[in-house]
Amino acid sequence: MTGPRILSLGAGVQSSTLLLLSAERRIPRYDVAVFADTGWEPQAVYEHLDRIEREVAQPAGIPIKRVSVGNIRDDALDPAHRFASMPLFVRKPDGRRGMARRQCTAEYKIRPIREAVRLFLGATLKANGRPGRPPRGSAVTQSIGISRDEIMRAKDSQVSYSRHDFPLLDLTGAADGRPGWKRSDCVRYLRTRGFGKTPKSACVGCPFRNNAGWRRLRDTDPRGWADAVAFDRAIRHGSVRANTTGASLRGEFYLHSSCVPLDEAPIDRVTRHEWASRQTDLFDAIADTEAGVDDEIGCSPFTCRTDLYEEIS
Ligand code: SF4
Repeated sequence: MTGPRILSLGAGVQSSTLLLLSAERRIPRYDVAVFADTGWEPQAVYEHLDRIEREVAQPAGIPIKRVSVGNIRDDALDPAHRFASMPLFVRKPDGRRGMARRQCTAEYKIRPIREAVRLFLGATLKANGRPGRPPRGSAVTQSIGISRDEIMRAKDSQVSYSRHDFPLLDLTGAADGRPGWKRSDCVRYLRTRGFGKTPKSACVGCPFRNNAGWRRLRDTDPRGWADAVAFDRAIRHGSVRANTTGASLRGEFYLHSSCVPLDEAPIDRVTRHEWASRQTDLFDAIADTEAGVDDEIGCSPFTCRTDLYEEIS
């Protein structure tokens, strides 16, 4: 039994591709697409989401459900709010660099999507207002937008009421003739449908952003850049709540992997990783450049990327 079909819609390249393919009936139709809103996506993502809802989802009869547990930026700076740790870079008191534990994806993306799935399956609300377990034996098939170049991120849901599937991996027609679409195939497809400028989805101040991504934010979204710079300053000593209660974390925290304030960080440096990825596949690089995304990193709920920034010492 496959159950209702749900799309985990991050509104980036791969999941937007799935929405369009479903609307065209090239893959089975989704009963609903769920977008987990952290409240801090770039304006371009919200505009893209509005557009695909208006021009693709609504005409195809696929409702888009926007779910949220709060604004990740405001919550992080609110001394009264529990701090869901972001993957901030930290310079420890002994000078070594490291990275803070990441809880934000689970809290702001996976949790609201799973709650929406449980409600969709008929779960009732518990005393705390959150949905309980869905009826025994009920389950959905939840599509995740993972392309062939990200196949290592295809993972089970780890909950009994949701079975993940990865439709991009089964498609034919990739530019290189091999089974499954790469991200560049998705970009090409979106371009033929008028969505060639589909942005990557990730919080404005997400530390999982390489130099190309920071440059893009600085050069194309001055408000987002100023916001990220201000946030970077505000989290220098970690959790605002912990600082307020006198339980400050040790070390200094930064958005950029160099552990330098964002507006001073060496983001114009083309890293070895960035240079290597430019050489990997000329066609992919051309497709990405035409789409205006370079190798900026995105963060979708079930495929959050942790590997595309400089290794820290
Ligand atoms: S985009 Fe970054 S900050 Fe936002 S939820 Fe994902 S990992 Fe956390």
